[in-house]
Amino acid sequence: MHYFHYKDGDLYCEEAPIVTIADSVGTPFYLYSHKTLVRHFKAFDSAFEKVRHLVCYSVKANSNLALLRIFVKLGAGLDVVSGGELFRALKSGVDPKKVVFSGVGKTEEEIEYALNSGILMFNAESSQELARIDEIAGRLGTRAPVAIRVNPDIDPKTHPYIATGLRENKFGIDFNLSMKEYIFANGLPHIEIIGVDCHIGSQLIELQPFVEALRRVKELIHVLGQRGIGIQYLDLGGGLGITYKDEVPPHPTEYANAIVEEASDLDYTLIFEPGRVIVGNAGILVSRVLYTKETGEKNFVIIDAGMNDLIRPSLYGSFQGILPVAKGEEEEIVADVVGPICESGDFIAKDRRMPKFKPGDLMAVMSAGAYGFSMSSNYNARPKVCEVLARGDRFHLIRERESYDDLIRGERIPDFLE
Ligand SMILES: *Cc1c(COP(=O)(O)O)cnc(C)c1O
Repeated sequence: MHYFHYKDGDLYCEEAPIVTIADSVGTPFYLYSHKTLVRHFKAFDSAFEKVRHLVCYSVKANSNLALLRIFVKLGAGLDVVSGGELFRALKSGVDPKKVVFSGVGKTEEEIEYALNSGILMFNAESSQELARIDEIAGRLGTRAPVAIRVNPDIDPKTHPYIATGLRENKFGIDFNLSMKEYIFANGLPHIEIIGVDCHIGSQLIELQPFVEALRRVKELIHVLGQRGIGIQYLDLGGGLGITYKDEVPPHPTEYANAIVEEASDLDYTLIFEPGRVIVGNAGILVSRVLYTKETGEKNFVIIDAGMNDLIRPSLYGSFQGILPVAKGEEEEIVADVVGPICESGDFIAKDRRMPKFKPGDLMAVMSAGAYGFSMSSNYNARPKVCEVLARGDRFHLIRERESYDDLIRGERIPDFLE
């Protein structure tokens, strides 16, 4: 459910005509719907209202400060995976006591920064990381709150690049070794064990893998209890999928019901780290058609956005809906939508049936709110695009378009080349 819709053939974001926004900010740009963001967050959060829980929105899905602020104002915590994301989180005004720090390769500086910020907990992913956190906490004269991320070896049935809970993945601690790690961590003087964490993958469209992972983790918690290691937080990660094309993912309430049913006998706070399900369908990428080209074999629609702006199709072969911002041409063609980047992998859609776009037409690339801007780069020396938040009939620039000067900020030519 989102608030991008047509009115008399023109695409709107809430009550704001997208063509007006494009005239004002230029193209390409990311556009988010405030009402959709709020609705998605509330739908997820309220689905768990019967149990003690904390929704820590996954910052990496979309880390714009304005979006973080929206969720924080609704009571969210945040899940960060780097020092930079922690910096963003703190700038958004989040209570540090609602921040969890995940990720397989935290550096010493990042661990120290998080300890000094007073975060809720680290999700630790290896023995060596546990030892490092212990050492740093000791040096700072504090104790680090820690959950261990276990890898339950569950097939999430998603794209291999976004599966994380299989034994072959780099994430978490092998389930069979997790007991040993807990005992090790429990013996470390500057570590306070407070939780168990598991995140099995992204864009999951079935409930079963979530439930299986939870069952496995419950076994572990049971055994931990017998060993006198008490758990206050169970972090079940993120991963709930969305509809890009014709997927039918579970609604957050179905997801919540399945989890709550399985976890009802437990006495601790559940933590969730949703990203995509909150922001994915709340944002689009708006681009302008530069040229069209027919090669006998194929039709190409060349737009002013490329894989540096939205890499998901190139990286995962993902499907993004393509819509005209102004419905006009009835005629349809089958075409590839490609960007200006000098790579054959630079495409947004392949062999797609779509209206016959003309140069100058605006195109909406749908479902681009998650892993869109946050994965964008400056490849081909392209300034990063701007981001806009629509609310009702108003719109707000929430990130300026980069300039050419931004592209070379921090670069130096050494003296010997003068
Ligand atoms: C990426 C990630 C998430 C968010 O995943 P979504 O599929 O966007 O919900 C949550 N937790 C961790 C540890 C992650 O790496």
